[in-house]
Amino acid sequence: MPASLKPTTRANPFGAPFVAPIREVVPGSPAARAGVVAGWSLVRVNERWVPDVLAYRRELARGAATLDVCDESGERSVRFEVGWEDPGLEFDEVIFDGLRLCANKCEFCYVHQMPKGFRKSLYVMDDDFRTSFLYGSFVTLTNLGEDDVQRILDEQLSPLYVSVHSTDEELRADMLKWWRLKVRDRRSTRIRDMLERLAPIDLFTQVVAQPGRNDGAALDATIADLVAYPNVQAVAVVPVGLTEHRRNLPAVRGYSEAEAADVVDRVEAWQARLLRERGSRLVFLADEFYLVAGRRLPEPEAYEGFTMLENGVGMVRDFLGDGLDALALPDGLAAPRRVLCVTGALFAPVLRAALAPLAGIAGLELEVRALVNRTFGAVTTVAGLLAGRDVLTQVRPREADVLLLSPSMLKYGTETLLDDRSLSDLRRELDMVVAVGGRDLCELAEAIVYGAEGGRGPQFGYSTHAVKEAAGRP
Ligand code: SF4
Repeated sequence: MPASLKPTTRANPFGAPFVAPIREVVPGSPAARAGVVAGWSLVRVNERWVPDVLAYRRELARGAATLDVCDESGERSVRFEVGWEDPGLEFDEVIFDGLRLCANKCEFCYVHQMPKGFRKSLYVMDDDFRTSFLYGSFVTLTNLGEDDVQRILDEQLSPLYVSVHSTDEELRADMLKWWRLKVRDRRSTRIRDMLERLAPIDLFTQVVAQPGRNDGAALDATIADLVAYPNVQAVAVVPVGLTEHRRNLPAVRGYSEAEAADVVDRVEAWQARLLRERGSRLVFLADEFYLVAGRRLPEPEAYEGFTMLENGVGMVRDFLGDGLDALALPDGLAAPRRVLCVTGALFAPVLRAALAPLAGIAGLELEVRALVNRTFGAVTTVAGLLAGRDVLTQVRPREADVLLLSPSMLKYGTETLLDDRSLSDLRRELDMVVAVGGRDLCELAEAIVYGAEGGRGPQFGYSTHAVKEAAGRP
């Protein structure tokens, strides 16, 4: 469910500064019985403005609520009451008073490195604690006022997902570069203070690591600080993401093999120590570090339930599962079949190796192709940031019978790629079957061998991009 940048305003008889547009009214519900229809707006609950669905639910949780609703013109209003019964209202959005934007200008910000021309939602600099609670998006906390902190505590908005980057306050300030005029309360920029003030709230934290900036000894110090807070549930260390569209931005570079290996060594040392002392690793590494360092991925149990999966932590291991051992592969196909799988340069070698057992199937011609990201630049190697144009410029019409895309290339729950091209567009332009490969290795192998077009392959998977899209985030 998306969240608008601006408050949703509409004429209403109560003078409310924002309203909640109603997408759907459940038939037979109290709202339907009161004559409310889709397109109207919720204005007040218990005579209070409702800034988001959290506030809406909070009022309903009191057990008796009076709802004021008005029609599109704002001329007609209806008041109805509910007890514990759900009113039956579905909303267009989850935030009604406008999404909280970030107060920062991080040197590694992905939004600042986006090429022009993509859908607007990809440029939104969301730093809203409410979407963090609702969808698990990471926030820096630097835009909070005292009222926000109090609300988080009063309403137990737990867990939250917090971008820490460094517990060295000076280094963090230099990396985030917040706008002083956008910061409502100076205390919110001090990460240690915030971690303490939010002591009753479970926090999943992340460190976006930059080579030579906040890694090395600085990373050790940050991990040491973070794991000392009882409310910190996990620390994800992820590498800085770069594109070739960094005009007029500070120089930031990606990880070399040796630098990535150093991060792996440090984090694995912490994991071993914390596992011994606390019974949990607490600190987890994004897959990219292992792939860039050429290191073997950890076993599934090392991810302890994959709690940071959407942050690229354990996605590859989760996808590979137990490999293809449990799958009964045929010796040959009834009809010859050319299958082309496309993915990002980072994952392609892993996928090629994982699909090697299919090489012996007679009649199957399989290729795993690493697409160069011409949209963001070759420096961007993850599959989730490949656009339709990258496929169209690197796959020739009819060069295979079936083209399988990585699920992370699609906007979640749709057949739409990053540049708004659809699978149908690709099918038409390439004149071949185009489908999505599968959520795990076995499903992908089944799609390759038996045919995704037959409906055996699933249509959607997940990715950080996909999850954020689902949440209406960039
Ligand atoms: S990385 Fe996030 S917090 Fe930093 S400037 Fe970009 S949107 Fe804001």
